[in-house]
Amino acid sequence: MKQFQVQDVQQNIQEAIEELWEEEVEFLKEIGRHKSTLGNENNLQRYIKKYLQGEMDLLTDSFSVDPKKISRYENFSPVEWSYSNRPVVVGQWRTDGPKIGKSLILQGHIDVVSAEPEHLWSYEPYNPIVIDNKLYGRGIADMKAGVAAMIFAVKAIQKSGIKLGADLQIQTVIEEECTGNGALALLDRGYVAEGALITEPTSLTAVKSQIGVIWMRVNVSGMGAHVERAQSAQNAINKACYLIEALEKYKKHINEQEKHDDFKFHDHPLNVNVGTIKGGDWPSNVPSECSFEVRIGLYPGTDPSKVQAEVKNWLFEAAKQDSWLRDNLPEVTFFGYHATGVELNTKNSLFKTLESAHQSITKKDLQYTAFTGTTDCRIFEEFGIPSTCYGPAGENIHGIDEYVNLDTVKTATQTIAAFILDWCGVR
Ligand SMILES: [Zn+2]
Repeated sequence: MKQFQVQDVQQNIQEAIEELWEEEVEFLKEIGRHKSTLGNENNLQRYIKKYLQGEMDLLTDSFSVDPKKISRYENFSPVEWSYSNRPVVVGQWRTDGPKIGKSLILQGHIDVVSAEPEHLWSYEPYNPIVIDNKLYGRGIADMKAGVAAMIFAVKAIQKSGIKLGADLQIQTVIEEECTGNGALALLDRGYVAEGALITEPTSLTAVKSQIGVIWMRVNVSGMGAHVERAQSAQNAINKACYLIEALEKYKKHINEQEKHDDFKFHDHPLNVNVGTIKGGDWPSNVPSECSFEVRIGLYPGTDPSKVQAEVKNWLFEAAKQDSWLRDNLPEVTFFGYHATGVELNTKNSLFKTLESAHQSITKKDLQYTAFTGTTDCRIFEEFGIPSTCYGPAGENIHGIDEYVNLDTVKTATQTIAAFILDWCGVR
């Protein structure tokens, strides 16, 4: 295609994004109203599937994750809950002409983390509201805005009457926030491509590496009694606090080791976070049981199973210093995230295409991020599919008053559209 025609195409699409903008914001508010926390993703997935099929004429499929089928993969994460009525969704836009460019997956997760404690929010977390061009709501930044951006980038291309030179898929997945098994199930089912873009809220930067994550549960036993006999009892909550102290030392220890090159400039790349604790039921009882759950980070190149063994051993060594825990070792189990860290190859054509799309829209050079959390990029890596994350900017992600900056949602939509045209080609 001649240069002036490429520019015309780009111009038409950017105009289409402008024309669709209000509709895009309404769509984002609508998907934000679905409280799609773990176990509650079905309604939203059905809504999106219907949208991809009815509004965009895509060939859709949805199915439940079958853990047995995907347990052989390195990034499979074991779960303790059911997958029924929690589908993953894909919409395919198949090219009917000769293949010109490369096939592409646009991927986003629709699961959100809990908004609790909701009473601390300034606005209702599941009734998105625009204040000063920021859209507030749980999951709006992470990552429903990205889902809206990728869907409307494709919609704008369709509206402009353009036919792509390669197949494109829109995938919306569950469990990015706890396992990555949703992404894994789709790729395992054969929904693969020559590249993937995940529209996570990266503030319009590209992810070049990310750490790995494991989850752990520690059950601590005490010896319960009425509080008047507390001297002879063993308080499970106190013993849990002792082990949590040991984990603080573990966190310090792992961050004192030599850092991975991509994380040299982070003063604290590997977080160890106690996220839940349960124990006791009465002020005058000495609790017999206490359990807490922990998230632990690890560098790319480190085997998650090795870290599991290391941290378990660390806890047992601490337990041996305690007269009660020595003979009553805590029960340590691993569930959820079994996620490798990854270093992405920024020299490949996916990154080059994103650099030029970002440059053409923003007139600025694309910046790269080493992310101290995990994303589904690791799943694509395991399948040998080049991928990265690129999406809008938000604040208070996983916190109170989460919001996305709407200007950046529009910019992300524009960049994604420019990326698609270049990557997939235009017939
Ligand atoms: Zn996310």
